[in-house]
Amino acid sequence: MDDLHRDLHPRTRAAHPPLIRPVGSLPLSTPIYQGHLFSFEDAEAMAAAFEGPARADEDGHRAFYYSRMGNPTVRMFEEAVNDLEGGAGALATGSGMGAVNAVLMSLLRSGDHVIAQRSLYGGTYTLLRDLAERWGVEVTHVSGDDLRQVRAALRPRTRLLYLETITNPTTEVVDLPALAALAREAGVLTAVDNTFATPVLCRPLEHGIDIVIHSATKYLGGHSDVLAGVVVCADADLYRRIWHHSLELGAGIDPMTAWLSVRGMATLPLRMAQHCHNALGLARRLAGHPAVERVHYPGLESHPHHRVARRLLDGGFGGVLSIDLAGGREAGRVFAESLRLVRMAPSLGGTKTLVLHPASTSHRGLDERALAEAGIGAGTVRLAVGIEDLDDLWDDIEQALAKASRTG
Ligand SMILES: *Cc1c(COP(=O)(O)O)cnc(C)c1O
Repeated sequence: MDDLHRDLHPRTRAAHPPLIRPVGSLPLSTPIYQGHLFSFEDAEAMAAAFEGPARADEDGHRAFYYSRMGNPTVRMFEEAVNDLEGGAGALATGSGMGAVNAVLMSLLRSGDHVIAQRSLYGGTYTLLRDLAERWGVEVTHVSGDDLRQVRAALRPRTRLLYLETITNPTTEVVDLPALAALAREAGVLTAVDNTFATPVLCRPLEHGIDIVIHSATKYLGGHSDVLAGVVVCADADLYRRIWHHSLELGAGIDPMTAWLSVRGMATLPLRMAQHCHNALGLARRLAGHPAVERVHYPGLESHPHHRVARRLLDGGFGGVLSIDLAGGREAGRVFAESLRLVRMAPSLGGTKTLVLHPASTSHRGLDERALAEAGIGAGTVRLAVGIEDLDDLWDDIEQALAKASRTG
């Protein structure tokens, strides 16, 4: 303790507890900088910190001043994702939707036009509809399969082409390199929600995409215990622009959540390998079962996008698959309710296998026709496959299929 402290009264010393700065050693795991405020030795250092996230000295050290603009633990999470995605800068947000908002709100203004894939994550779809209704942003939805359709949708004020690497629940995989090239030629930015693939299976920036979005709530965090998002940019100017807007938006993440996320990411490649192994194993077994009409999984040769997926995805086809049960709505409900090891829950990306029957839960308000328009059948069931043992999962699924096929 220095001399200044020794002469002070207890209540002052209590308010200024000693701060330990390790010298000569580094922590082996990520430290949690829970404090949201940082103090400076001199005015110049503080002024430098105000210049924002891109500022770093030659050793890569950056100054921090207020955690909404940047925090060391948050930065370590951002750098971990940025590194795997091969970006010029990453920005963490309090949820995946925070990341989607940070991108859309920073790039679009009234009268701008967006071309977006039709089968988007529900929250993104609704956000685009709200931006159209309330802010006059125009949106055209395309399948993403047909380059001519995308080209025909281009307008003078088209600003953004918005895609997902693997869609939900029908697991569509579009040709990212071709779409990125088309957009680039037209001067249109591209954003890809890479939540389902993760940088282990696909790095969209390598295919010419400008912006990658993640719900880190899913595979990056990986343990169903965080709500977090990340934006990764191919270009430093674009990153700065989105960073600047996002601190106005206040969509930032807290250090504890960033810490849990970066801790989860240490095992991301191992977990993805097991998710993919299990999902492919289940998809093959399900495809041969009489109660199952169709399996949607890009790893199966019968999937319409299997060849694109082979080209785009490294080492596996993801952890999500869906099946159409022959017995329709009732079979779907009975199947989901009969599973014992597999838990009934929305979401994905954690260690445990989850089941969702949209027609009796998330989409129960829709009739057969509206369901079909959303690309979902009455008997469609989504499995978000975890990292358990494949044989245990199959035993559970097989007994639930037997019950489901006794309905109707
Ligand atoms: C879950 C999800 C989101 C939204 O993420 P939150 O963390 O729930 O806000 C966005 N995109 C995809 C593909 C998702 O699965």
